[in-house]
Amino acid sequence: MSYSPKTWIKGNFKSIEKITKLTWKFVIELENTFNYKAGQFVNIKVNGVTRSYSIASYDSGKNTFELLIVKLEGGALTTMLFGSIKEGDELEAKGPYGHFLLPEKIENDLFFICTGTGLAPFRSMLDLIIQQNLSHQKIYLIFGTRTKDDLLCYDEINKMKKSVDGLNYVPVLSREEWDGATGYVHKHYKQIIESNKLKDPIFYLCGWRDMIIESRNNLKDMGYDTKKIVCEIYD
Ligand SMILES: Cc1cc2nc3c(=O)[nH]c(=O)nc-3n(C[C@H](O)[C@H](O)[C@H](O)COP(=O)(O)OP(=O)(O)OC[C@H]3O[C@@H](n4cnc5c(N)ncnc54)[C@H](O)[C@@H]3O)c2cc1C
Repeated sequence: MSYSPKTWIKGNFKSIEKITKLTWKFVIELENTFNYKAGQFVNIKVNGVTRSYSIASYDSGKNTFELLIVKLEGGALTTMLFGSIKEGDELEAKGPYGHFLLPEKIENDLFFICTGTGLAPFRSMLDLIIQQNLSHQKIYLIFGTRTKDDLLCYDEINKMKKSVDGLNYVPVLSREEWDGATGYVHKHYKQIIESNKLKDPIFYLCGWRDMIIESRNNLKDMGYDTKKIVCEIYD
């Protein structure tokens, strides 16, 4: 069956897995195969409520993909997703959308800067790099969250370091002391930029508005061209 980004495709929640208290992984199964690029997002409609979600896996050409969704208190769709919705329930999906994409050939160092479920498109990009053994330069993944319990996909990304040469994973906790990085993401990408010789880096920023605006301004102040700063804002 053919589809376009204008067509709603029927599907269901194939599985729902609690990966942290407030962030769950939803595996979506569609009636037909779905093609997309790593970093793109889909619109999901459940009981008449439509919201956008970054695809968190790279399964293009198959009929399933994964989403990482955080519960927002009082939110229309997430209240359903973290309440009444169960495996097998129906949904509709439309897409893919978005220009939050890797370059055709990865010849620059890449900075993936995110907070919370802003990790999702980077998980898809890393999945693609591993599956297709894509040649690349250094990749810095700076992921901010509150506490150790909120560290999404921590073991999984540490494991990816074995397959992705030059992947530097910097999880940063803002509300708990631990033996890793603490505070906000900003001081950590600044530190990396100041202490490494970088290869014409491209910055990818994903998550909620405040973090993205602050990061973008900081990078501009550090002299980087906004053409090399790609943003995906979760409004
Ligand atoms: C391109 C894109 C990709 C995205 N990808 C992801 C992703 O991968 N993962 C993810 O978790 N999210 C993602 N989002 C965010 C997602 O689309 C939704 O915005 C989010 O899930 C909240 O939807 P909701 O219906 O639960 O909340 P909404 O009902 O839209 O409410 C949003 C916020 O407003 C508050 N609110 C709502 N009504 C009121 C009211 N009457 N008074 C006061 N406050 C109120 C809610 O408490 C909530 O905090 C993405 C967004 C975009 C644009």
